[in-house]
Amino acid sequence: MSDDKFQVIIIGAGLAGAAAAYRLAKAGREVLVVDRGKTPGAKNVTGGRLYTYALEALMPGEWADAPLEREVTREILLMTAAEDSVAIDSSFPSMKQSHTVLRGKFDTWLAEKAEEAGAVMIPGSTVDGLIIRAGKVVGIKTGDEELEADLVISAEGVNAIVAERAGLIRPVNVKDIAVGVKHVFKLSEDAINERFNTVSGKGVAMLCAGECNKGISGGAFLYTNKESISLGLVVDSQSWKNSKLPLADVAEQLKQLPALARYIEDGELIEYSAHLIPEGGFNSLPELCADGFLLTGDAAGLVVNRGFTVRGMDYAILSGIAAAETANEAIEAGDYSKGFLKRYENKLEQTVLKDLKTSRNSHDYIAHSRHLFTTYPTIAAGVMKNLYSVDGNPAKLARGMCKQAISGKLPYFDVLKDILKGGRSL
Ligand SMILES: Cc1cc2nc3c(=O)[nH]c(=O)nc-3n(C[C@H](O)[C@H](O)[C@H](O)COP(=O)(O)OP(=O)(O)OC[C@H]3O[C@@H](n4cnc5c(N)ncnc54)[C@H](O)[C@@H]3O)c2cc1C
Repeated sequence: MSDDKFQVIIIGAGLAGAAAAYRLAKAGREVLVVDRGKTPGAKNVTGGRLYTYALEALMPGEWADAPLEREVTREILLMTAAEDSVAIDSSFPSMKQSHTVLRGKFDTWLAEKAEEAGAVMIPGSTVDGLIIRAGKVVGIKTGDEELEADLVISAEGVNAIVAERAGLIRPVNVKDIAVGVKHVFKLSEDAINERFNTVSGKGVAMLCAGECNKGISGGAFLYTNKESISLGLVVDSQSWKNSKLPLADVAEQLKQLPALARYIEDGELIEYSAHLIPEGGFNSLPELCADGFLLTGDAAGLVVNRGFTVRGMDYAILSGIAAAETANEAIEAGDYSKGFLKRYENKLEQTVLKDLKTSRNSHDYIAHSRHLFTTYPTIAAGVMKNLYSVDGNPAKLARGMCKQAISGKLPYFDVLKDILKGGRSL
């Protein structure tokens, strides 16, 4: 390696960037990672639940020391009205597939793994642009410095300004973006175990719709960590814009919603963050490679929100792996042309892109099904309230009570349409 040239430079030490760096360093490549955060993960946000099959794919059998918070063994779908709520509470004690994570800790750990493997990390430095010669990306610009590489991987997250400035991707379209807001509340491990009827090491993932998002398309989430609770919202940006509601107010009211407030009572707010999420999915994917250049993770729009699951972290890791494998093959072949790098897309087609294709209509469905986030949760709470109401008046048949809760709130044709469209989209 010459003093100022690397085989691969990676922009961003989030999950996609650190995963690619780890794999490349393990393969003995000269790889540099530049991240604008003071420490990796410092500015990164997730809900967050990580599906750990992706970690196993990255470092088989080598992630026992990963700073995972709690294994998710209970899934709650919560439908909220102003005061009332209905929950579908499912327990899967033997399902060992996902853990909650806090990105500050997790990203630092993953970046350290990449460094231990031999990657060079430069934190606290922002990449301002790309060096492009004869149409090929040959390096990066950071401040006054220029650093060259055979290949540059963008893992810069959702707002991929570097790739955009170089004309390699289009600016993000507001219709393809969701906005996330997240609070983290500190609570003792015992308090969390007691409130969620769980034991240390095991935890809960809760996704909520209804009053929690004040009629904006999207939903709220709650995840239990070891000694904290993550509570937040993810809303469709267009629907939020149309609502004209300040998101900070919606997030504030979320904390006061009776169905959620009891879980965070007496918790100390230790973190507040907001972040964009690329939810346009398969229909809005950019070109994933150019001469000397690959695009990974959120920068490539590799996220799927199906309402009951949100996945971006596992896809970021898988795309990091695929980018590293492609870079390795390109180094061996000495070919960094777009034609050669197309094999990155072929690799992703077996995994991430397959899922994005399957869920290609989920964003559109979630963003435009107004009843899903307003009417249905209110009706669900109303139906259950009627069924459980005993007030001394003559008893009614359940059928009549359901009809009373639904009456006038929803044209049956809309329900049918939602069921059919939902079945095809989610
Ligand atoms: C509120 C919310 C909830 C979510 N919930 C979940 C969930 O539960 N499960 C799930 O799987 N996914 C979830 N996601 C999505 C998931 O967090 C992302 O898909 C994932 O973090 C993407 O990883 P990444 O490495 O591509 O990008 P990021 O994690 O955003 O990393 C990008 C990195 O690039 C660096 N960077 C950016 N620009 C530059 C530059 N110019 N120079 C140098 N460095 C730069 C940043 O500092 C950062 O470290 C959620 C997202 C949000 C916002």
